[in-house]
Amino acid sequence: MQVAVIGAGLGGLAAAARLAGAGMEVTVFEQNEAVGGKAGELICDGFRFDTGPSLLTMPFVVDALFADLKERRADCVDFHPLAVLCRYQFTDGTVLRSCPDVETFGAAVAAATTDSSRSVLRFMAHSEVLYRLAADFYLFRPLSGWLSYGRGVSREKGFWALRHLPHLGFAKSMHRLHARYFRDPRVVQLFDRYATYTGSDPFRCPATLALIPHVEHRLGACTVSGGTYRLVEAIRELALRQGVQILTGARVEGIAHDGRQVRGVMVDGQTRRFDAVVSAIDVNTTYQQLLDGWPLPSGRRHSRRDPSTSAIVFYWGVRGEFADLETHNIFFSHDYRREFGELRRGRCPADPTVYLYRSCSYAPADAPSGHENWFVMVNAPPDLGQVWEHETQVVRSAILLRLKSALNVDVAPRVVSERILTPPAIAACTGSHRGSLYGPASHGLVATFQRHPNRSRELKGLYFCGGSAHPGGGMALVLISASLACSELLRDSQGLQP
Ligand SMILES: Cc1cc2nc3c(=O)[nH]c(=O)nc-3n(C[C@H](O)[C@H](O)[C@H](O)COP(=O)(O)OP(=O)(O)OC[C@H]3O[C@@H](n4cnc5c(N)ncnc54)[C@H](O)[C@@H]3O)c2cc1C
Repeated sequence: MQVAVIGAGLGGLAAAARLAGAGMEVTVFEQNEAVGGKAGELICDGFRFDTGPSLLTMPFVVDALFADLKERRADCVDFHPLAVLCRYQFTDGTVLRSCPDVETFGAAVAAATTDSSRSVLRFMAHSEVLYRLAADFYLFRPLSGWLSYGRGVSREKGFWALRHLPHLGFAKSMHRLHARYFRDPRVVQLFDRYATYTGSDPFRCPATLALIPHVEHRLGACTVSGGTYRLVEAIRELALRQGVQILTGARVEGIAHDGRQVRGVMVDGQTRRFDAVVSAIDVNTTYQQLLDGWPLPSGRRHSRRDPSTSAIVFYWGVRGEFADLETHNIFFSHDYRREFGELRRGRCPADPTVYLYRSCSYAPADAPSGHENWFVMVNAPPDLGQVWEHETQVVRSAILLRLKSALNVDVAPRVVSERILTPPAIAACTGSHRGSLYGPASHGLVATFQRHPNRSRELKGLYFCGGSAHPGGGMALVLISASLACSELLRDSQGLQP
């Protein structure tokens, strides 16, 4: 059976490796010259940067990809577990380092804020229940409507879930849940930030997403030795060893079909025939650009959802060494509600929360001696035609101001190299809808738990994986998504019932 995979991001590469491992003849079409998509690499002026993801959670998902193909991940790429998950700094100067061990983290929260260690432990127990509910019913399962959630779940797990159903807090926002557990607005803000792991607004996404702290603290959070791009390369090599053909500089212009069944893909004005197609690019882009003029109900439904946030990223080569900083650093804004209100209105926040990632802290070769490589990111609205040159300059000044007051250092004259990524650039170089980082935002229960399924309901032979499909964005979920799409395809190819 011949399969085309569109897009060589992490999702497309993993799907291709799995399908080839199952005996399919797989060709990957990637529009760019380099693979990786959002997980790219930038080398300039003596500095190396990961262009996108920096934090890998649930590393066992990567291990499973290699193990399923009879290889050992550790033979191909190394991970660094993080001793400090993140250094948080609030506008009043308070610094709080979070670490994987929940008791130590609780003690740090108690020492720096007016909340207690006990509140942290109670909240983390809640977060664990949410994760277990999501894992059993949603995360690792293909999705085909609400009824599919319970399919195949053991009676024991079913009863456990029923007992814990109130934890889901259907009507509550993530922020409201945090405000119930914590009194100190700084602690609430710290936990609210986890909404951004899905590109969502903590005031609008459901309390259910409060499962993320459990994932980060208890299921592993690490960086990839040598930078995130080494993971992309390891998965590309894995795919090649399985016999996948990867064509770069090969933009797919359309998906060929007869209204019922896909027939192949259009590349360079030619139709190339395939028995099945896996779209590992943004779902909206697939419908709007590759199935153009053939309006499918799923495409219309999907296009009505809010896109997740985008970002403006500055890749700065900075003179000096900043030993007090960690690999991952957050400098919070004064007012999170205002910040997300501005994003909702399509504007870049005037006082943004700043994320600073320094891979040189664990990969010293990423910056010349006496320098650091700073990936500085702020949340930005999706691209709606804003004047990005202006927005970027305003945001740049706000970041420099924020860093000056937080670190007591004027960073501006220390920036010796600069590259900038904006929402339209993200859209152009990865095909993501309006430059969103994680597909549709998780605003409301339906959007959170009804992402686009991994198999098309309308076109036989069409499958979806990646950050905008089920179960969601972020490196680990994208790899799960690839695994689910492949299971669906393999089951269909054997004529099996779901
Ligand atoms: C700035 C930033 C920071 C992030 N931080 C994190 C983080 O810390 N942790 C984390 O887990 N996640 C993070 N993410 C999200 C994560 O990067 C993504 O969820 C994930 O990499 C998406 O992978 P993907 O395979 O779904 O799609 P993509 O990476 O978007 O890949 C899609 C590929 O398809 C190609 N393509 C598009 N259209 C076509 C076409 N017509 N023909 C051929 N090829 C096409 C594109 O060129 C691209 O290579 C971040 C993302 C960004 C941008």
